[in-house]
Amino acid sequence: MTVPLPDQLRLEFMSFEEVSNALAAGISTVLIPCGAVEQHGPHLPLCMDADHADALAEQIARRLADALIAPTIKVGCSTHHLGFSGTISLRPETFEAMCLDYCTSLARHGFKRILMFSGHIGNFPILRDSLPRLKRAVPQDVEIAAFCDSIAWIDRWRHAVAEAGGDADSVGGHADIAETALMMYLRPDSVRRDRFEVGHLGALSEEQLHAMWKNGIKSVTHNGIIGDPHGATADIGRRCLEAIADLLVTSFGE
Ligand SMILES: [Zn+2]
Repeated sequence: MTVPLPDQLRLEFMSFEEVSNALAAGISTVLIPCGAVEQHGPHLPLCMDADHADALAEQIARRLADALIAPTIKVGCSTHHLGFSGTISLRPETFEAMCLDYCTSLARHGFKRILMFSGHIGNFPILRDSLPRLKRAVPQDVEIAAFCDSIAWIDRWRHAVAEAGGDADSVGGHADIAETALMMYLRPDSVRRDRFEVGHLGALSEEQLHAMWKNGIKSVTHNGIIGDPHGATADIGRRCLEAIADLLVTSFGE
């Protein structure tokens, strides 16, 4: 359905009347962006994934043209990053409880389609695992979808980086060329350009993945980076943002 979109799509900045009017006009989709507050190497702020989720939500909502945006769940599940100062991590059950309370609140107001995604790939397995319980918590005519395909996500980043003239092999998925470029685009003053370091390069072996989940990310990368931030530009960041927004819109079905 094509309805005129309000200028402001973020629920938290709207009045209840504006939300009510949007629902009455047929806007029945709502996005739940999820983030993380976790280390992203020596050169990026902890808010990286939360900022990314905010920016993706704006792009996706404009593209879908019938969606509002719930407040980003800013803190996520980052246990394996707790070895680095400042990281805050929710237990999976806390994160699921927050998602569930969001979904039941939004369903109560009349939203019929709840779309969840995360700027932090580490939330993907928890979202996937929680989804059946979230669905059971809302009326049957309310659809909940969650994007959880980390391989497709990284693949889009690799293509976007290469298309913008960067080195796709610098994409590792964490504080790498893609995330650094995203922050150069979204919050340029936050990027410590004199603190770029090479992180873990190449695919993580089964053993390394196991060690990372068991003992924390420090066991595979001493500086918290997987990939390499060198070569990042704001243009690469813009393309990475658009590539992931496109992936999410396609996956949710326009
Ligand atoms: Zn990140």
